[in-house]
Amino acid sequence: MTTEEAARIRLAERANHELADAPARQILQWAREQFDTRWCVASSMADAVLPQLASQVLPGVDVLFLDTGYHFAETIGTRDAVAATLPVTVRSIRPRRSVGEQDAEFGPQLHQRDPDRCCARRKVAPLTEALAGYEAWASGLRRVDAEQRATVPVVEWDARRKLIKLNPIATWSDQQVAEFIAEYGVLVNPLLEAGYTSIGCAPCTRPTVAGEHARAGRWAGSSKTECGLHT
Ligand code: SF4
Repeated sequence: MTTEEAARIRLAERANHELADAPARQILQWAREQFDTRWCVASSMADAVLPQLASQVLPGVDVLFLDTGYHFAETIGTRDAVAATLPVTVRSIRPRRSVGEQDAEFGPQLHQRDPDRCCARRKVAPLTEALAGYEAWASGLRRVDAEQRATVPVVEWDARRKLIKLNPIATWSDQQVAEFIAEYGVLVNPLLEAGYTSIGCAPCTRPTVAGEHARAGRWAGSSKTECGLHT
């Protein structure tokens, strides 16, 4: 580990401690003060809460959207609406291979046979490549999303990419999200109204029913629960 890396890790630990109970906007403001414009946010376009918050702190902020080639039309529409209406710079990040090229290499519907490999090629690697050149990135992870996310810190060290990672709405409840959406008229993916409580690629996402966990519709029927972006 380099001295600079060690210093960044300490910076993340200190910030996480100091900002543990801070409002989301203050956590992003910290990124602005530390890194000026050299940070970005990632969005799945389930809603535009994080892009909206980040644009209040840094107008023109880069918003990374992983355009896997498998998204619902509603998600692409939400991305386009965000780009058209918010003061942000949406960057659609595409994998090196198109869906057709992936099918030719691995056979069709890799997502059914080996979703980890599909996510690695269409999400994880493209995001890691896209993050080169930034010093920090922010995600919309929340502790209430899933058991595995119950201890998500507000600021952490992303060891894989050697960047600081912010999770500014980690502590938000569903109610807080709803209130923020109502207060600012935030764009939301219309699929949320159709029973999709978590939205990913179309072949790997189904609506949920009452009593199910919000992410129960992701990779339903398999043991997979995360795409690998946050591990
Ligand atoms: Fe492939 Fe499904 Fe992962 Fe999307 S969510 S990258 S379709 S395995």
